[in-house]
Amino acid sequence: MKGLMQPTQLTLVHLFERAERYGRDKRIITATATAKVSTTYGAWAERTRLLGGVLDILKISKFGRVATLAWNSARHLELYFAAPCSNRVLHPLNFRLFPEQVTYIVNHAQDEVIFCDTSLWAILEPLMSTFTTVKHLVFMNDGKGEAPASVPGVQVHEYESLLQQAKAAEWNVTDENQAASMCYTSGTTGNPKGVVYSHRSTFLHTMAEMLADSLGVRESDTILPVVPMFHVNAWGLTHAATACGANLVMPGPDLSGKAIADHIVNEKVTVAAGVPTIWMAVLPELKGRDTSSLRAVVCGGAAVPKALSEAYREQIGLPILQAWGMTETSPISAVCTLNTAEQQLPVEEQAEIRTTVGRIVLGVDFRVVQPDTTTMVAWDGETSGELQCAGPWIASSYYNDSRSAESFTKDGWLRTGDVAVVDSVGRIRLVDRTKDLIKSGGEWISSVEIENELMSHPKVKEAAVVGVPHPKWSERPLACVVPKDGETITKEEIIAFLTPKLAKWQIPDDVVFIDQVPKTSVGKFSKKTLRDRFADYKLPSA
Ligand code: AMP
Repeated sequence: MKGLMQPTQLTLVHLFERAERYGRDKRIITATATAKVSTTYGAWAERTRLLGGVLDILKISKFGRVATLAWNSARHLELYFAAPCSNRVLHPLNFRLFPEQVTYIVNHAQDEVIFCDTSLWAILEPLMSTFTTVKHLVFMNDGKGEAPASVPGVQVHEYESLLQQAKAAEWNVTDENQAASMCYTSGTTGNPKGVVYSHRSTFLHTMAEMLADSLGVRESDTILPVVPMFHVNAWGLTHAATACGANLVMPGPDLSGKAIADHIVNEKVTVAAGVPTIWMAVLPELKGRDTSSLRAVVCGGAAVPKALSEAYREQIGLPILQAWGMTETSPISAVCTLNTAEQQLPVEEQAEIRTTVGRIVLGVDFRVVQPDTTTMVAWDGETSGELQCAGPWIASSYYNDSRSAESFTKDGWLRTGDVAVVDSVGRIRLVDRTKDLIKSGGEWISSVEIENELMSHPKVKEAAVVGVPHPKWSERPLACVVPKDGETITKEEIIAFLTPKLAKWQIPDDVVFIDQVPKTSVGKFSKKTLRDRFADYKLPSA
């Protein structure tokens, strides 16, 4: 017997219309390179419909890929909805990738048009001749840089004048399973891999972000997505904010600690989200200021040091809210909100719980399995295995990529490449990335665990731990440490600090001091760069 409910398609049109109808007077604030501008969802919705008309004028094909090379802004949000709601596919480009990777993703996705902020034109210009499918280039003046009058091989347009020529589009998306947007994941060796989100997956993920026990995004929020719109659709926050008419603060190009702190204070931000390196830079800038509007500082994308979360709790009274996800998981899949019992625990125990990524979000299934099996490890908080996921906003394969076979199991689960343990109440603790684990004499050492301890040292600004080759143990940990500005610290001090906290065989064999930990294109620690840099490093014990 079948249920007798209506087969309504879950599409972005519904999310858009919520903002258009109910969020009309709510604000979208954008910090451009030179100014702060404010608009409303009402005005935004009118422009977004006109932009749908622009895509018709440019004759972008059905499901044609609409690329963006842009900072977080209200205009970027217009593209976020105009492309999918007019049956095209949005493709935000990560402009921090290596140039040849940008060429790869534009050609691989077969982008037909690129919407480019004028301030980013310098990145795109040298690559234009390498693109094989791009027909149109639309410039968006963001206060910096200049659009050229012409570019060989493509038609050049200006965003605002195209809008003036266009007729407002009526949206008509009939299949929830059609593609809405795509993002390429850079957390990989070789070329980036394309993840294609459907209307349905985006709709359901948006609702998952509104769950009270996940991020609880709601109308009364003012949301600051520091995470770029090319990084897993700004972690879905711009969709969620739009759907419930929450105010949005788009930070534009200035992602400095000071700029972000100013937005939080001046715009009375309630929810802000970014990777750990962002929050490390913001905290000192919040000292002595009124942060009482904040209800969640969301942090994920990389291991969240306990010391960082505790520093927020001590300084602003609000610890970090850790979340876990990937480009392949839309991304929100686990969030570390404390349940009723956990809220009664002593502060120190709560801090320890916050070092986990929390529980899986309603709608997603997970398993932590022994290598090459589907057997779940014991939920004992100790036995580790690979974290695998399944669910309606989890990718089932990569876009046109033979590497899908390695990343999905035969029974259809996503292999995340993260190593995790699960405790008896289902909280997931990430131990490491499979490729970042250090194999020493047959034992696995978690680089994350050592980093967590290192970063709790009062004189340490950042630290990353990598395995370097060792003749006897095959690999041993090397600590790469950045002292806080104006501080000096010795190797002996660091080893003495770690000794009571870690097992003897986990203590790094050596400590090197570096200017900064290299970062990936999305601002995470790049362990690969460090491993390459220290591949021939001679450990004193070797
Ligand atoms: P990306 O696709 O760039 O978002 O990268 C996804 C990867 O980031 C995951 O597979 C994890 O390795 C890492 N990651 C995401 N969230 C966390 C977290 N809360 N703690 C540790 N690592 C994380």
